Amino acid sequence: MRTVQHTPVEAGPFIGGRFVESAGQERQSTVSPATGQVVGSFALGLPDDVDRAVTAARHAFTSWSALTVFDRCRFLERLIGEIENRREELARLLALEQGKPYRVEALPEIDETVSNIRVAIELAKYLDGTMPQLANPRKRAFVYRVPRGVVAAIQPWNFPLGTASAQIAPALVTGNTVVALPAPSTTLIEYEWARCFEAAGFPPGVFNLVTGHGPVVGDAMTAHPDVQVVAFTGSVATGRRIAARASGKAQLIELGGNGPVVLLDDADLDVVLPDALRSTYGAAGQSCTASGRFLVHGALYDEFAHRLIEAVQREVTLGLPFDDATTMGPVNNVPLAEKLDRHVGTALDEGAVVLTGGGRAKGFPTDLYWEPTVLTDVTESMAVAVEETFGPIAPLQRISSEAEALELMHKSPYGLCAAVYTRDVARGLRFAEKAPSGLVNVNAAPGDTETHLPFGGRAGKLSGTGKILGRYPMEDVFTELKLVSVNLG
Ligand code: NAD
Repeated sequence: MRTVQHTPVEAGPFIGGRFVESAGQERQSTVSPATGQVVGSFALGLPDDVDRAVTAARHAFTSWSALTVFDRCRFLERLIGEIENRREELARLLALEQGKPYRVEALPEIDETVSNIRVAIELAKYLDGTMPQLANPRKRAFVYRVPRGVVAAIQPWNFPLGTASAQIAPALVTGNTVVALPAPSTTLIEYEWARCFEAAGFPPGVFNLVTGHGPVVGDAMTAHPDVQVVAFTGSVATGRRIAARASGKAQLIELGGNGPVVLLDDADLDVVLPDALRSTYGAAGQSCTASGRFLVHGALYDEFAHRLIEAVQREVTLGLPFDDATTMGPVNNVPLAEKLDRHVGTALDEGAVVLTGGGRAKGFPTDLYWEPTVLTDVTESMAVAVEETFGPIAPLQRISSEAEALELMHKSPYGLCAAVYTRDVARGLRFAEKAPSGLVNVNAAPGDTETHLPFGGRAGKLSGTGKILGRYPMEDVFTELKLVSVNLG
């Protein structure tokens, strides 16, 4: 069966604890990238909706921030309960709307969402202030850690709930209130997530959602004078615009990368191969932590290429998200599919060779099913090597030394995550210490990490600023230090 049974979701803003009409009269339909069926529609919000949502969030801040962290945690515990009760239903909508395979990716994203909330709950209880020593014996000083206010939280479409929970749970638990904007192509799942907030009984205005287009709704959010923090996960182009518009506000900006995976001459291919499959074709490559390119020492190049193709053909099954055998679904949207066409097409014109895959797969309900692809003879002049391709493509670039790999990484504008493979762990560690990236894994895929560890781009690169996950965004972004001193007389 090509389409799946589904009741359309008609989404709109959630403001002040209620689902309300948008100020905008227009709606946009959501079409499943997997089946081509209409999954529902959402209201195209206007700046007036943003203003209402920010006002609700500003009013809610007074009482929400006055609760103890233990009380706030109780609301988030209830949110977890609501998500867990609807786990399969949410995963089904996520698979249908986003395109990711239900069993191997959509269900795990719901679980990751819960895990992000749990980590925020656990760690927030340990945040504290200080009482510093003073030169003046008649004074006392207290350094409080206080929430900042209203957070504008903007999500991408590749991991809508994963990223929303990573931004929003630490913001809420530390006492901020939130106005969220989902990406257009994954608005329905975030709308259903807002229903979980409603069911969990959060006080009105603590969490708000506005649906619509980034340049309208997002622009109004990021420049709003009553917003104190902007948390954004998305593309470099949008991130740069937002960083400028939100100047003066606290910012957590998580952008793209091109995940270099370096195979030194002594890499163990048995270790590399499963990681390469998972990190290149997982999420159909639509992950900021994907292996974007492989920098492979000449001594291993041919053997790695040969074994990678065999592994791809044996283990990656492109298919409908609800087929149990599927390990990889379609890509999410037309502009992305066209970018993949372009990156691979121009690489072939410039001398790259397709060993497997290379284009859109036939025989599926939509033309967004992109074949798992391996490209060899890739060079530094090709977009597929140096840009964020964001698809199920492994470009293999030949290197002749460790120094060359480091030089290419330093030249790259990205610095989100990277991996190096070597049998000599000390050599790997030395390489990692020199690599210009926010996360470097030795003998593990670029994106392998855990929810309590800091994650984010390297300063000076274009992969973002600030660390998301763990206690870091709570300390650095969602709270600030406030000094109160008392003259005892
Ligand atoms: P995008 O930048 O196109 O859109 C992201 C969000 O920004 C959407 O909600 C969109 O509505 C909104 N937006 C668009 N214009 C805006 C504006 N002018 N003001 C405010 N908001 C605006 O990104 P995308 O295509 O949805 O996501 C893919 C990108 O996200 C990739 O580059 C990927 O690497 C990155 N990403 C990064 C991380 C990370 O943690 N570093 C995680 C996931 C995705």
